[in-house]
Parts: sequence; C-alpha cells; structure tokens
Amino acid sequence: MPMVRLIYVSEVAEGCGLQDVNDILQISRKNNEENGITGILCYDGTHFIQWIEGAREKINALYGFILKDKRHGNVTILEYSEIAKREFQGWSMAYVSTENTDRKTAFKYCAGHTFNPYLMAPESVRLLLLDLACEHEESLGRTVDW
Ligand code: FAD
Repeated sequence: MPMVRLIYVSEVAEGCGLQDVNDILQISRKNNEENGITGILCYDGTHFIQWIEGAREKINALYGFILKDKRHGNVTILEYSEIAKREFQGWSMAYVSTENTDRKTAFKYCAGHTFNPYLMAPESVRLLLLDLACEHEESLGRTVDW
C-alpha cells in the first residue's frame, strides 16, 4: 500500500475557538495513532493548515471525515502525493499556532505581509510547515513512539 501526503487549508468556522482545536487534537491523536497516520496541524485563528501522511486508503478515509466537519469550511487540497517516507514519524498530530509564530518565518514564505495560505504556493506551505515544526520541535511533544 503506497504512502501518501495530503496537505490542505481551510477556514475556521465562526465560533470555533481554542477549545475546539483542543478537542480536534485529542480525537486526532487517538484516531491517528490507531490508523498509523502522522502529521501536523497549524492554526492561526482564521485558517487551519493540516499535513497528514500515511497509507493511502487511511488518508483518503480521514479526508472524507475532515471534509464533513462543521468546525471549518472551504477545505482546499494544496498537495496530494505519494511519498517514500514520513516527515512526522513521531507525531500522531503535532500542533503549531502561527499566532505566536515569528513573523519573519511566515514572511519568508508569503508574497505579502498578510499570512493567507490560500494565496501561497503549495511548496511554500509545505516548507513553512517543516520550518514551523523545526522551530517548535521542543514544544510539539512527540505523541507516538514510532
Ligand atoms: P465519530 O464521529 O464517533 O464517528 C463514528 C465512526 O466513524 C467511527 O467509529 C469510525 O468507524 C468512523 N471514523 C471516524 N473518524 C475516522 C477516521 N479518522 N478514520 C477512520 N474511521 C473513522 N480527525 C482525525 O481522526 N484525525 C485528524 O487528523 C483530524 N484532523 C482534523 C483537522 C481539522 C481542521 C478538523 C476540523 C477536524 C479534524 N479531525 C480529525 C476530526 C474529524 O473531522 C472527525 O471529527 C473525527 O475523525 C471523528 O472521530 P470520532 O472518533 O469522534 O468518530
């Protein structure tokens, strides 16, 4: 079974706040560990960006659930590709908030001063997530011992 990586961006639904993000992380970590899915979720109060990686059929099934979730909308795939290895092997769902992110890091990957992942090249989003994960590695906390 090939492994794939799916990266999407979405708009946070009205009324969806930090408690909802915590709920999402909690269920994600439980389900993803069971399904061999790893990745990272990024939240800036307005957008979610999520990178999920794992067996193709598991990722496709998860994306089906995520699409129907009312806590966000305008879910747009930025990248879907086969991968040879995982980037987030130790994380059933790492989490970074770009609200606290160094503006320099975001600016490096954005054409303007406003952070809008819908206007970014998929490769820039991928590199931004890797950069954020690196920057916050200490605080992400490994969630699985794979
Ligand atoms: P229930 O709502 O109780 O569903 C009942 C049944 O559906 C389950 O028993 C199972 O048979 C099936 N099912 C549900 N979820 C899955 C699944 N992921 N894979 C296979 N079968 C399933 N959820 C995640 O699990 N992982 C994520 O990485 C993730 N990221 C999210 C990111 C965002 C921005 C948002 C808004 C939501 C995300 N969710 C994620 C939540 C997701 O949309 C569903 O709410 C969640 O998967 C439901 O899980 P549950 O165990 O409560 O299933």
